[in-house]
Amino acid sequence: MPPVFSKETNEVYVRNDGRFGQGRTSPCENKCPLGNPIQKMERAIAEGDPARALYVLRAGNPFPGVTGRVCPHPCEGACNRAQYDEALSLRSLERYAADAGAADVRRLKVLPASGKKIAVIGSGPAGLACAYFSALLGHDITVFEASPVAGGVPRQSIPDFRLPKDVVDHEVGMILDLGVRILTNTEVGRDISLDEIISRYDACLLAVGNRKGRMLNIPGIEYALPAVSFLREANLSRKSLEGRKVVILGGGGVAFDSAFTARRLGAAETSLICLEDREHMRVPRAEIEQADDESVTLHTGHLATSVEVENGRVYAVTADAVSSFSFDESGALHADFVPGGKLRVEADVVICASGLMVDLSLLDDSAAEKVERTPRGCVKTSFSASSIPGLFAAGECASGPSLVSTAVAEGRAAAFDIHAWLTGVEAGRAVDAWLGSGLIKYKR
Ligand SMILES: Cc1cc2nc3c(=O)[nH]c(=O)nc-3n(C[C@H](O)[C@H](O)[C@H](O)COP(=O)(O)OP(=O)(O)OC[C@H]3O[C@@H](n4cnc5c(N)ncnc54)[C@H](O)[C@@H]3O)c2cc1C
Ligand code: SF4
Repeated sequence: MPPVFSKETNEVYVRNDGRFGQGRTSPCENKCPLGNPIQKMERAIAEGDPARALYVLRAGNPFPGVTGRVCPHPCEGACNRAQYDEALSLRSLERYAADAGAADVRRLKVLPASGKKIAVIGSGPAGLACAYFSALLGHDITVFEASPVAGGVPRQSIPDFRLPKDVVDHEVGMILDLGVRILTNTEVGRDISLDEIISRYDACLLAVGNRKGRMLNIPGIEYALPAVSFLREANLSRKSLEGRKVVILGGGGVAFDSAFTARRLGAAETSLICLEDREHMRVPRAEIEQADDESVTLHTGHLATSVEVENGRVYAVTADAVSSFSFDESGALHADFVPGGKLRVEADVVICASGLMVDLSLLDDSAAEKVERTPRGCVKTSFSASSIPGLFAAGECASGPSLVSTAVAEGRAAAFDIHAWLTGVEAGRAVDAWLGSGLIKYKR
């Protein structure tokens, strides 16, 4: 069941083990990866009480301001109202609750200190959701973060015209308020070894995301920037691209984010080369329309074949027109080409947005080096536990590319699983104990 607000006692109860699809009923809540209490939120907003709406949302999600802006809202696709006229804008309501309710924050009640110490590696949505719920459970939490800022991809890479950084900072700040320590500029594997962390803490969560850019295997690609690095750099330093001709290779959300960011950094020309045709793009129609509005040229139905370079300077990208393509089970591309269909686009900056890979190099030379992996190289988990006792994993480093809401739900589940492991209580019962303790009773 979703969180229940009691007007009599002014408390919220969560009956949810932090996993997907547990005992929820309404189609929208069922579609939400977080199981957000959508009806409770709607009622609180309708009654003019956004602070109460925020209160019920935060019972299961420390980042409603983030999901209320960037979640692709699968909940709205299941909204019953669409049978009459159109779906409710549930994501906008979530955003409204996060913004309008923030003035009247109701504090969470924290369980007494357990004496257990948990290390979380990575401060993205999965790591910080685990930190938030683990802190509420009374554990002592330290988060290790390689970047100078906390918040993972939402803070480092999602462009700020979609997600203002102060929204992420505010929600991260509320996690710090619970006593969570975040050590930024601390890359595990470089500044501190994983073995040292494992020896100093009672449990450790890997939540390092999926941050390594996958590069196309074409001549000259070494002169291209991986899109995640470009976006991270753009967010942190805002280096101007004034007058530059930018070409982006790829057709997903990260490619479009890169194109819109390049425009905002002053690029004179921005174009995108992708395999898909306009009808089968992997982004919402609104983004294609935005690309047209912002004069981003879409070269659809093409496969880049080389980055032309002379004297260390990029000059152009060449591509072949494809008539059809598919990917096999191993992810390898099979394409048929249009005879004579050649394209050459002038460029002085090339950004490669052809996918992401998990980077688990922090495990090298550690006792956890032989941790079991999935065929795609992620950490294999069962109830968040890896094959190494005491080492857990959540978010994209365990499940591959996903969404902020999914990563938060996985981090939340990991907090329950770690709690169960530390206290010796079976996972489902740990949640009962948590609820029975009155943890999710929010007081004004
Ligand atoms: C450009 C871009 C745009 C996106 N847009 C959306 C969107 O609009 N909506 C949506 O729902 N999802 C979006 N996503 C996906 C979403 O951001 C991810 O699903 C989510 O952030 C995954 O969370 P995570 O906690 O698993 O990993 P991350 O957010 O990647 O966080 C991992 C953290 O671990 C840190 N780290 C890595 N290695 C180490 C180490 N060795 N030591 C210490 N720290 C380390 C990283 O610096 C990072 O802060 C987007 C992704 C990208 C790349
Ligand atoms: S997190 Fe996403 S799916 Fe869930 S209520 Fe918010 S917008 Fe909808």
